[in-house]
Amino acid sequence: MATTAGIGWTRERCEELDRSDPIGWARGRFALPGDVVYLEGNSLGAMPSAAPARLAEVLGKEWGEAASRSWGAGKWMEGPRRVGDKIARLIGAKPGEVVTCESTTIGLAKILGASLAAAPGKRRALLTTSTNFPSDLYAAQGMRRFFSSEPELRVVEPEALPAALGAGDVAAMFLTQVDFRTGALFDLGSLTDLAHRAGALAIWDLCHSAGAVPVGCEANGVDLAVGCGYKYLNGGPGSPAFVYVRSAHQGRLPNPLPGWMGHADPMAFGRDFVAAKDVSAFLTSTPSVLALAALETGLDAFEGVTIEQAREKSLQLTRVFMEVISRDTGGAVRFATPPEPSGRGSQVSIRHEDAAAIVREAERLGVLGDFRPPDICRFGFAPLYLRHSEVYEAARIVADILGDR
Ligand SMILES: *Cc1c(COP(=O)(O)O)cnc(C)c1O
Repeated sequence: MATTAGIGWTRERCEELDRSDPIGWARGRFALPGDVVYLEGNSLGAMPSAAPARLAEVLGKEWGEAASRSWGAGKWMEGPRRVGDKIARLIGAKPGEVVTCESTTIGLAKILGASLAAAPGKRRALLTTSTNFPSDLYAAQGMRRFFSSEPELRVVEPEALPAALGAGDVAAMFLTQVDFRTGALFDLGSLTDLAHRAGALAIWDLCHSAGAVPVGCEANGVDLAVGCGYKYLNGGPGSPAFVYVRSAHQGRLPNPLPGWMGHADPMAFGRDFVAAKDVSAFLTSTPSVLALAALETGLDAFEGVTIEQAREKSLQLTRVFMEVISRDTGGAVRFATPPEPSGRGSQVSIRHEDAAAIVREAERLGVLGDFRPPDICRFGFAPLYLRHSEVYEAARIVADILGDR
């Protein structure tokens, strides 16, 4: 990166950006920790201000007073689909293509299993990268053992994906759109195309994209996807995750963990499983009503904000952070995150042998990020509630710490 790129950044210029920020008002929808600049929204999104009252209402009125009558009246049963539709808008999916589910890993296990079960006989490989999130790799390692043919799990470096697809035996390629360590962004559109040309399904983990990066599931032809509720969607600790199933695949791909909520007629209590014909087939169990209520407040905080606006602001925030640190350290910083806007998600990662100590020191000085082994300092930029001016101050603090080492 050019070391002079950030020369022009000042606190005043960032305050000016705050004043003209078209989504700056959305910060008012969050309760933020008062003692730090919160750069951990990529790990646990901040609490929506509406969450405590909404949870109190679900507890007091819906559970306490109405009790079991809320399954119908409180719309508890429709929760996974209703909340799913609110997520659909943010990932460029159609209504009826997304449901909330247990967790990302379980959702991924379901769609990997579905892809393998539906794949033609000669397609016996799952393809991913060594950089993928460990839990995603574990899910695939486990799921393949349930198939008598023991499909191969092919784990390659990102650059080797095209060649690995070329082998012609891949049932599904599954990738995480934004790398959790480096913040690097895959070109989802062209990799999805490449998978399709190789006859494979394209599965995307949107944990670090949903709510911060446009995905365009529909426009890009994504087959299946999963994502997390508690990062940029601000759904709270342990929030339900979500599964996206392209409408063309609904009624066709089998859920390998069937349960009554995915039955075509759950309340008929029939002996045999008959899958719902829509995205509900990927449900298994009774929805987590309390957790879902919190997630819904997180999604409602996006009302009036488009994902394109969120992306534009996120890119501005990460740019300020990177350029100010570059400037203040005289270029003596090793970003793991690609500098070009098309190459990065909504986080900035710095490599340093003292990464863990740097993150601790930053917290002491009022900047909350996190450490990922072996040498990564991670800082996440949630566009809904961060201000340019606080990101500027955070960058100055981090640059100071780096300069001291
Ligand atoms: C955060 C994250 C998960 C979380 O998985 P859970 O099963 O919901 O705990 C999975 N995959 C990726 C890429 C993540 O970033």
